[in-house]
Amino acid sequence: MSTTRRITHLIGHSEWDGTAERTGDVYNPATGEVTGKVDFASKALVDEVVAKAAVAAAEWGQASLAKRTQVLFAFRQLLNDNKEQIAAIITSEHGKVTSDAIGEVTRGLEVAEFACGIPHLLKGGFSENVSTNVDTYSILQPLGVVGVISPFNFPAMVPMWFVPIAVACGNAVVIKPSEKDPSAVNAVAELWRQAGLPDGVMNVVHGDKEAVDALLDNPTVKSISFVGSTPIAKYVYEKGTANGKRVQALGGAKNHMLVLPDADLDLAADAAVNAGFGSAGERCMAISVLLAVDSIADELIAKITERMATLKTGDGSTACDMGPIVTGVARDRIVGYIQAGVAAGASLVVDGRETQFHGAEGGFFVGPTLFDNVATDMSIYTDEIFGPVLSVVRVASYDEGLALINSSLYGNGTAIFTNDGGAARRFQNEVQVGMIGINVPIPVPMAYYSFGGWKASLFGDSHAHGMEGVHFFTRTKAVTQRWLDPSHGGLNLGFPQNK
Ligand code: NAD
Repeated sequence: MSTTRRITHLIGHSEWDGTAERTGDVYNPATGEVTGKVDFASKALVDEVVAKAAVAAAEWGQASLAKRTQVLFAFRQLLNDNKEQIAAIITSEHGKVTSDAIGEVTRGLEVAEFACGIPHLLKGGFSENVSTNVDTYSILQPLGVVGVISPFNFPAMVPMWFVPIAVACGNAVVIKPSEKDPSAVNAVAELWRQAGLPDGVMNVVHGDKEAVDALLDNPTVKSISFVGSTPIAKYVYEKGTANGKRVQALGGAKNHMLVLPDADLDLAADAAVNAGFGSAGERCMAISVLLAVDSIADELIAKITERMATLKTGDGSTACDMGPIVTGVARDRIVGYIQAGVAAGASLVVDGRETQFHGAEGGFFVGPTLFDNVATDMSIYTDEIFGPVLSVVRVASYDEGLALINSSLYGNGTAIFTNDGGAARRFQNEVQVGMIGINVPIPVPMAYYSFGGWKASLFGDSHAHGMEGVHFFTRTKAVTQRWLDPSHGGLNLGFPQNK
């Protein structure tokens, strides 16, 4: 018999002790069992949490950089020490395999490490004698209360794209994680408490649209960092900006990998399998379309098929390559796309519906699936499937491949595989995509660069983390100063000019 846990909001360091009017089921996707019930926050509760966060923000925003840095270093250490524990929580609710979950925590840890350098990152500029005896300098100040809304597919890493930098910049955070796998954020919040972050600086509200709308409508929330599907990203961006907030809303993706005839085909086949089926394709940087130049397509597909035959799909907490899909609904949607691809006439090379699974009968499994001869009007090409389905589109040339990538609605990530430096250089210049891999399949930038796509993959002006993150979570003031000098006195109603 399974036991279900209650997962609830964290108002600062305290668990909410109320009774939720609405809750959501949390599953173990490997078994299909409901293992938890997550409380959904009402608008009134979100407003209450935001009000408490505002009090904490006022004090934390004045904390010295030395104090903030101490907390960040302690958090970084605690996160490193608890990596496996957080990864196990992720696997139990998301389903991804343990090594992948550890990888996710590690990439989040890198943002915490970047944020440890906050005293350097928050340095403004200083110009002496911009006019005679007049200096100008800039200072970066926190926004106050900032909102974060995160997706299911990286329950620890995506929140950490934002939270460590927001906190380091002196803000208080109210985060609403995905209701599908809410426990990882609570576990990470506990580490913030242990690290010495003052009460009220880090808050977690769980829930759905009601909680999101409450954050978007609350005037005390100064910014929203959203990551999720494109329609919701667009909605969040439009509503948030209409309410006067600063918004960065990262949306969906349909990432193409272009393989030229001179590529190392073994490397390309490894990359296609890793990036197509890692995390069951539930990554915004997953490769879902392989553009193979005709002359090497048969050989490349043969190499990919050979590799796919070695993959083991099953319970992510056991020794498997690929875990289950997050929910039964998501699994059924993916199976629907496979059916649609077959009906539209694509060649089904490997059918993930027939994969043997190493897990419980009730688990939400679909195995790695490969289609060849995919046409660009088929739904398996046009839509974000967000599952382990890789579509091969055969192209005649580099130019045809590039044109397809550039005509996509999305512009999150892409990759080119080639040994021709000139072609790679042309690609990085010509492709309309935010993150590019050259012989690298999942080109997620390091924490000190910024993460974000173009077109329908990002609404707003700021990408996540790196210096764009620091600027997103601060406001700049420029100060012009002169200390008493009688020679500069006197009336002059003209616009100040530097002398
Ligand atoms: P989702 O859009 O369903 O949910 C994202 C967040 O929005 C969740 O917190 C959810 O509770 C909330 N939400 C859901 N419906 C809402 C509504 N009607 N109104 C307001 N809020 C709502 O996305 P998901 O399924 O959790 O995550 C997968 C999606 O996220 C994919 O499209 C993927 O490409 C995208 N993603 C993008 C990036 C990126 O960097 N661009 C990174 C990770 C995931």
